[in-house]
Amino acid sequence: MEDERPLTSRLSRHSRQVQVLYVACEGESTEPDYLQYLNEHFGDGDGQGRRPFRIQPVYRRNGWTPSAAVEAARKAAGEDEAWALFDRDQWEDIPHAIKDAAESRIELAFSHPSFDLWLLLHFQAFGGAQSGSSTLVVEKLRQARGADAFKDYDKRGDKSVKGARRDALTGREAQAVANARRLVASCTHGLCDPGQAQTKPPGEDAASHSPQEWAARSGHAVDCPVLQRDPSTDVWRLLVRLGIVAPGPGTPRRSGRRS
Ligand SMILES: [Zn+2]
Repeated sequence: MEDERPLTSRLSRHSRQVQVLYVACEGESTEPDYLQYLNEHFGDGDGQGRRPFRIQPVYRRNGWTPSAAVEAARKAAGEDEAWALFDRDQWEDIPHAIKDAAESRIELAFSHPSFDLWLLLHFQAFGGAQSGSSTLVVEKLRQARGADAFKDYDKRGDKSVKGARRDALTGREAQAVANARRLVASCTHGLCDPGQAQTKPPGEDAASHSPQEWAARSGHAVDCPVLQRDPSTDVWRLLVRLGIVAPGPGTPRRSGRRS
């Protein structure tokens, strides 16, 4: 276990005002970097009603499977709020991960095909099934307007989100959230609706959830199979949860359906 980092020791509760979240990541570089960016840029609150928060990224060298990320989140968080971030790569393990997450009430932030989609949505809308390939997403990210800092993204293994890349993301959170919500609304299932997404933790006494119900907290319909949410990313829910972006309006049903 010596390569696990950072140490997942409980953060001190010197201030009850600070929301503490443990977020386990399948990846070892991009996602932890991004979470640290959220801490550094938004973690102190805004003095206008947005509470300070502290995300404790939980990750390890060479990454985790989705279900191992869920397990790591559960162990690290104890009584605190826990999330697990993973993408579609290790798809065979995903049903297992969702089942465990539903049992332990660990929030899911799933991306299809990859977390890179979330970064891209800061710069532009995106659509069209990718069948699990992240190639086009990365290509678009490298070329996107305003994303010069990403032009070498994923070249020579550099998938970090630091320095100029962070700066390029800053100020585009609301756009990223809106683009991600739009992907829920345009899901080919047809009954998925970002207005149905849950962004507040369920109460202690809330009824238990089936894995399908738990995965529907993203706004996708209960019977929308997770692996067919192509493309999509739930990471927007984390930003709304933290108060970085205001919750969006309910999305009106598209025409041709019962309201
Ligand atoms: Zn859907």
